[in-house]
Amino acid sequence: MKVPFVSFETMHNEIRQELDNAYKGVMDSNYFIQGQACAKFEQEFADYCGVKYCVGVGNGLDALMLILRALYIGAGDEVIVPSNTYIATALAVSYIGATPVFVEPEIDTFNINPDLIEKKITEKTKAIIAVHLQGRPADMDRINAIAEEHNLKVIEDAAQAHGARYKCKRVGSLGCAAGFSFYPGKNLGALGDGGCVTTNDKEIADKVRALGNYGSDYKYHHIYKGCNSRLDEIQAAFLSVKLKQLDKWNAERKRIAGRYIKEIDNPLIKLPKTSDDVFEHVYHVFVIRCDERDRLEKYLNYNGIGILKHYPIPMHLQGAYVDLGLCEGDLPVAEEISKTVLSIPMYYGMTEEQISFVIERINCFR
Ligand SMILES: *Cc1c(COP(=O)(O)O)cnc(C)c1O
Repeated sequence: MKVPFVSFETMHNEIRQELDNAYKGVMDSNYFIQGQACAKFEQEFADYCGVKYCVGVGNGLDALMLILRALYIGAGDEVIVPSNTYIATALAVSYIGATPVFVEPEIDTFNINPDLIEKKITEKTKAIIAVHLQGRPADMDRINAIAEEHNLKVIEDAAQAHGARYKCKRVGSLGCAAGFSFYPGKNLGALGDGGCVTTNDKEIADKVRALGNYGSDYKYHHIYKGCNSRLDEIQAAFLSVKLKQLDKWNAERKRIAGRYIKEIDNPLIKLPKTSDDVFEHVYHVFVIRCDERDRLEKYLNYNGIGILKHYPIPMHLQGAYVDLGLCEGDLPVAEEISKTVLSIPMYYGMTEEQISFVIERINCFR
C-alpha cells in the first residue's frame, strides 16, 4: 500500500463543480484584482475568525511583514519569535529591518515557552510573534500578559492553524493582528499563493491594505512607500468555496489524529500533546518524535509511507541567519526537535485502510 504524505485529490474532487463555477464567475466578471470576490471572502473569513477586519494579501510572509510595518516596527527594533517555526516567521522580521530574537519552545507542544520570553526582552523589543505551530494554539493568555506588562504588541502567525480555537475563540482574534497563509498545503489553501491579515483594529487594517497596494489609500494617491501584495480575485473565489468545508476538513484531521494517538503504541515513538479544554488543535501536520528518526524515516519510506520533517534544520543554524552569530548548542530544544521530528500523513481523504496501515507499520518499528 502507498500512503502519500499529503493529497488534495478527495478534497478537491468533492467540490470540483463549485471550484469550476468560481473560476467562471471571475472570468465573466472581467475583474481580476481587488473586486467583489476578494471583498466577499474577506468578509466571510473575518466572520469565521470572529474579527472585524480581514485584508487579503499575496501570501503569509507578506501578511506578517505588513503587520509589522503597520505597527511602525523597523530597523533597530527586536521582535521575539519562537526558535522552532517555519523560517517565514523570522524572515518577516528581517525584511522590515528588525532583528528576530529566538525563544525556545516547549518540547511537548512545540510552541514558544512563555517562561523563557521575559529574559529575552530588551529596551529594543517591540513585539512577540506567537506562532500556532502545527495547528496548536500558543499559550496566548500568558503571552498577552507578558506583552502587556512590557508594553509589547502580540502578533499571531496563524499560517498553520486556520480554525483552531483557544478558550473558544478562533486564532486570528487573539492578538493585535494575525497573519494567515493560504499556501495550497495549509488547512485552508488556495490553488496558488495567498494570505490575509485579520484584526479588530481599523488603523492596522487600513494601513495593511494601503501598504499592500503601493501605499495607496485611494487611486493614484500614495501615503506610504508600499509594495504589491494583494489576494487575487481567482484565489479569493476558490477560498470562499473552500472555507465552507474547513470545519469538516479540520474535524477529519482531528479524527485521524485521534486514531494515531489512541493506536500508535511503540516505546520508541513520542506522540504530540493533544487538544485539551483550553485549546483546540487542528493538526496542520501530525508530528511524532523518535530518537532514531533517520532510521524511522528510511523504514517508513521503504514501506511506501510519505513523511516530511518540520523542520530538519533550525533557523539559527541556517546560512540565512549566520549574521545572528548563533552556534550549535545555543538553542538546544530547537536543535533536539530538528533531530527527532517526523511528520506522518495527515489529510482529508485518507482511507481507513491507509490510516490503519500507517499505525501498524509504526507499531512494528523496532
Ligand atoms: C507557511 C507559513 C508561513 C508563510 O506563508 P506563505 O504563504 O508560504 O508565505 C509563515 N509562517 C508559518 C508558520 C508557515 O507555516
